[in-house]
Amino acid sequence: MSNLSYINENGPWQTYLAQVERVAPYLSESLKDYIDTLKRPKRALIVDVPIIMDDGSIRHFEGYRVQHNLSRGPGKGGIRYHPDVNLDEVMALSAWMTIKTAVVNLPFGGAKGGIRVDPRSLSSRELERLTRRFTSEISHIIGPQQDIPAPDIGTNPNIMGWIMDTYSSSKGYTITGVVTGKPVHLGGSLGRIRATGRGVFVTGVDVARRIGLPIENSRVAIQGFGNVGNEAGFLFDKAGAKVVVVQDHTGTIYNSKGLDVKALQIYVAEHGGVVGFEDAEILDNEDFWQVDMDILIPAALESQITLERAKKLKAKVILEGANGPTYPEADDEFSRRGVIVVPDVICNAGGVTVSYFEWVQDMASYFWSEDEINERLDKLMIQAMNDIWQSSQENQCTLRTAAYILACDRILRARKERGIFPG
Ligand code: NAD
Repeated sequence: MSNLSYINENGPWQTYLAQVERVAPYLSESLKDYIDTLKRPKRALIVDVPIIMDDGSIRHFEGYRVQHNLSRGPGKGGIRYHPDVNLDEVMALSAWMTIKTAVVNLPFGGAKGGIRVDPRSLSSRELERLTRRFTSEISHIIGPQQDIPAPDIGTNPNIMGWIMDTYSSSKGYTITGVVTGKPVHLGGSLGRIRATGRGVFVTGVDVARRIGLPIENSRVAIQGFGNVGNEAGFLFDKAGAKVVVVQDHTGTIYNSKGLDVKALQIYVAEHGGVVGFEDAEILDNEDFWQVDMDILIPAALESQITLERAKKLKAKVILEGANGPTYPEADDEFSRRGVIVVPDVICNAGGVTVSYFEWVQDMASYFWSEDEINERLDKLMIQAMNDIWQSSQENQCTLRTAAYILACDRILRARKERGIFPG
């Protein structure tokens, strides 16, 4: 389907393109001419990142930074450290950021980056060297007014601190606004670490209320118990739901009466994964998809919900904490069965929203309280959910298509009004 030479025919970029194709019929005639602007990244940089390992040897890693669209403002998007990172994936993730920032109406475009590396295989010093060299290699295209990275899978606030320090060193003064998700004492924002999981919970509660699904005693399944999955699980548990099954890279654990989420958080922090947690039975990974559940939260990697898995799923609501977890054919299956999917571009937008707050606070050198952050976050997320829900009712389409209608209209209008240089 793609006309780009450098993409993988079965990769997440194809999923993204299919999503854009679905929105095209709903766009106003005056914007349809501009839709191809969304079907290619504006800029894609591939860099070689050589570092000296602790044993004195030299290793080379492959890094990427893709700026998908900058029509509405500087690029915004995370940096992923994972052994499977590739250009196709980073392109798709950058495009989803374009849609996401527009859905929540943040003044940003979409970008993403990554390095093909298993960060767990490196020492802390090696990780620091890798991060600093990568920052230096991409430093000519990032900046507080150009493109602002943030954490994603395999990266964390410490790594963001190294990026900020390396970039600042090259300019000769401290530039906190070049990256978000930093430690709080380095210009980070209160509430950032928990923001994505919180957004998943807030959008989940909103949609459950609309379809009359009580949260109390609802059965929740979570794939991925990292930053996003564990906070969302914690908040659902606190609201009276039962987290019955959790899967991560170590395996799948299940308790029909509900897992003790707080204890599981402590266990995972100590042991690095869910397997081995007491008071739970171990399931085969594939059985995760057929557990009796009301709410499913995919919060691990993209391309997880295939048509085959979608057919087995009993969930009434799917909250996409992860980016791009659902294949378009699975989306169609859910739509046929009336399963509500809260799409990634709104469901996990809590992180980028508080990243925006962090950037604003860095620019103003004036910092807000956690209560202020959470209040503003909830307000923006609920406003966006209202707009999406209303559009889905008016257009008789899924929440995903409704979110894309809203976002593509904003992006393409900006593109059109800016004009095509040189005219
Ligand atoms: P993380 O690294 O903190 O956690 C990832 C989790 O996924 C871990 O529990 C890991 O064990 C699990 N996992 C990895 N491979 C798996 C596999 N094959 N099967 C099952 N589980 C597996 O990452 P995170 O920050 O929580 O991000 C999770 C997802 O949410 C990603 O898709 C990311 O792009 C998306 N996201 C994150 C943020 C954020 O602010 N962190 C914001 C928006 C979207």
